[in-house]
Amino acid sequence: MSLLGIGIGMLVREYGKLSNLDKVYFAFPGEVLMRMLKLIILPLIISSMITGVAALDSSISGKIGLRAVVYYFCTTVLAVILGIILVVTIKPGVTQNASEIDRVGTSPEVNTVDAMLDLIRNMFPENLVQACFQQYKTKREKVKATTAVGKNSTMFREEPTTTATTAKASENKTQEYKIVGMYSNGINAVGLIVFCIVFGMVIGKMGEKGQVLMDFFNALNEATMRIVQIIMWYMPIGIVFLIAGKIIEVEDWEIFRKLGLYMATVLTGLAIHSSIILPFIYFIIVRKNPFRFAMGMAQALLTALMISSSSATLPVTFRCAEEKNLIDKRITRFVLPVGATINMDGTALYEAVAAIFIAQLNDLKLDIGQIVTISVTATAASIGAAGVPQAGLVTMVIVLSAIGLPAEDVTLIIAVDWLLDRFRTMVNVLGDAFGTGVVEKLSKKELEQMDVTSEVDIVNPF
Ligand code: ASP
Repeated sequence: MSLLGIGIGMLVREYGKLSNLDKVYFAFPGEVLMRMLKLIILPLIISSMITGVAALDSSISGKIGLRAVVYYFCTTVLAVILGIILVVTIKPGVTQNASEIDRVGTSPEVNTVDAMLDLIRNMFPENLVQACFQQYKTKREKVKATTAVGKNSTMFREEPTTTATTAKASENKTQEYKIVGMYSNGINAVGLIVFCIVFGMVIGKMGEKGQVLMDFFNALNEATMRIVQIIMWYMPIGIVFLIAGKIIEVEDWEIFRKLGLYMATVLTGLAIHSSIILPFIYFIIVRKNPFRFAMGMAQALLTALMISSSSATLPVTFRCAEEKNLIDKRITRFVLPVGATINMDGTALYEAVAAIFIAQLNDLKLDIGQIVTISVTATAASIGAAGVPQAGLVTMVIVLSAIGLPAEDVTLIIAVDWLLDRFRTMVNVLGDAFGTGVVEKLSKKELEQMDVTSEVDIVNPF
């Protein structure tokens, strides 16, 4: 589907002569797909989390939750360390001529403490209804178009530019960039998950009295999965137009060459993490073939690659984990939504590489303290990033400000982010999926011990 999308996109670029409005129409079927997937996130999180947790005994769900969080945390830290080793060795930014850098402006007041406090605040939304309809937080930053890599480069712009505007950019004309807020998926997923976990635990403990609620959420879960099935039918069409729409948007192919080494570093890191580190951990703990497991997740991984959103991929991740890899539904319902929200190995690795790459472009020599700071903030920033396209680019601001680089330097990597985002999202989803296998294995005893009557009534909607 992606190749077809690329082919159609190239053909339309070549012969189409589309106006900006035509491009919007052309990308419309893809936009509809994204809207459908986002639409289903809310009922999916609520019904799967509540039924998942309610089906577990509360002492067990605590243990399973802890295992999931520990696994997620450790793999994220490993991803960050790998990214740092690669970027410090390959030095993609050092080859650039630092004297061309013209940095201006000051970084906005976003620091790690603020970000962590925000994360905790979001865990406790003041209003549950509002948490489901959280508005996109956007703020506009006035930043200058800098020329760190080449005088006539347009790589720092969010919007595609023409040659005429490129010339203006080299005069450091002030540009306006839209920076989307950190929790920008339209839903406060962290807050909802915390609430659903507590709510599920309470229902699970209520016995007979809680049964009516259990039945309600089970039915909701089944209905949601049926809708997912309908979306899956439309998915191939949407994906072709999504990709083709992106291809016709790209204005300056030259930028890819300039950032080639940086991209190669990120992609190498993602490849090592997903094909060596994660499979190795899975094999050591589960003692099964990790590559067969990964093949079972193929559809979810491809979806993540196409749509760059681990939250929107969640329905497909569920399906693959439960139906192809036969992971216990009591584990997937609980572990996957948490993973899609807090576990982003690919994003963490990318944030560490990107921050050091930007430091190298700025000719900034990092000491060990700053490298540790990058590891900590990249981990925190990946936890705080929402599972939506390019969320990692936004939370990069935390990492950059932590080492004293201006936040607007994220614009240095914007041009290639749409592509890297696809691959890191794939690794994010794979990390979540391996997590279900690992947690299931570690929780075998508890799952077996569980009272059969407390098992959720799982109906296969497919
Ligand atoms: N797009 C990524 C995801 O959904 C987040 C990011 O790194 O931007 O997992």
